[in-house]
Amino acid sequence: MTDIPNIPFGRPWVTDGERTAVQQVLEGHILTHGVKCEEFEDAFARFVGGDAYCLTVSSCMSALYLAYFQMGIGFGDEVIVPAQTHTATVHAVELVGAKPVFVDCNLQTGNMDCERIEAAITPDTKAIGLVHFLGIPCDMDHVLRVADQYQLKVIEDCALAVGACYEGKHVGLFGDVGCFSFYPVKHITTGEGGMFVTRHAGVAEQVSRLRAFGVDRSHSERTVPGKYDVTVLGINSRMSEIQAAIGCQQLTKINQILGLRADNFSQLKASLSGIRGISILDADHPNKLNSHYCLSVILHGDLKKYRDSVIRGLNEAGVGTSIYYPHPVPRLTYYKNKYGYQKELWDNAATISDCSIALPVAPHVTLSDIQYISDSFRKVIKEVL
Ligand SMILES: *Cc1c(COP(=O)(O)O)cnc(C)c1O
Repeated sequence: MTDIPNIPFGRPWVTDGERTAVQQVLEGHILTHGVKCEEFEDAFARFVGGDAYCLTVSSCMSALYLAYFQMGIGFGDEVIVPAQTHTATVHAVELVGAKPVFVDCNLQTGNMDCERIEAAITPDTKAIGLVHFLGIPCDMDHVLRVADQYQLKVIEDCALAVGACYEGKHVGLFGDVGCFSFYPVKHITTGEGGMFVTRHAGVAEQVSRLRAFGVDRSHSERTVPGKYDVTVLGINSRMSEIQAAIGCQQLTKINQILGLRADNFSQLKASLSGIRGISILDADHPNKLNSHYCLSVILHGDLKKYRDSVIRGLNEAGVGTSIYYPHPVPRLTYYKNKYGYQKELWDNAATISDCSIALPVAPHVTLSDIQYISDSFRKVIKEVL
């Protein structure tokens, strides 16, 4: 019997650096409100550049929520969001009481179709909540032009876009707020965690309060320990020192991580090229730098209906896969029940949900794995047809 390889879709890259850093935090007894979060924030700010203020938070979803909450967006307001995204992008809008208005994506990049944004704007529209899909930057010139014209805020969901740039500038720095995720399978991880990024000092100042119960001063600002006031409503979405220590270590490897992902992606894309009836989501212009979260293959024509069989075949061959994302958000039961589902409005989103397969390109995947993934893909396609 031959050994079946095991290539998981994602695997966090954790080494002695992270283990030692966690140990040091535990030995220092300061588990939150410490200097590690500040260190991680400073390092992340240096990485994205552009004089951004960076605030550690408990997840990307909480960063998104805090963005809308701080902006005062709520009941009676509308926010334009892509139909094809993680539910968190839209839940954040829903949680502040605003109404998400879904826009279909295009099939080259998977990003919200910019040409359709204007048609979705109403007098109640307050913001555009866009997503850099799988690390492929949106057309920011277009989005900012529309946002400017209609005086809309722009919130960038950069959960899969650490390292993605548009015209040489890191994503998350174009709109009012950028939100990042450090969930285990993403580019870098802190277990759970996120980063709230903004170019506006005032927004950063307010959100640093909102993420910690709305308390008016941080630990280091309290002259009498335990004495503080609460001036605004807030939640607790802080990151712990343990997580931040892991994040600092992860960030030291970011260029290596991005390089390996880029190599794996281009190698896999090249090896799959020539297979009939598939297309691959990627940046559609040289001014967009993909951060290569994964390689998403869309099956077309006769292959379409065999998507789940292809996945099973790959998984049986030891190739881990995922689906980004398994349903257009408006097709998820919660949203379907609340707003109804109009298939014809979100056709491309449905194609990605129903006919795509996300293949692994993270640093745990070697170039010989890439060859194996591509060989397995060809073999499975032949078998199902
Ligand atoms: C993973 C993901 C999120 C959620 O990130 P968390 O840190 O788990 O809250 C949000 N948006 C997108 C596009 C994602 O892929």
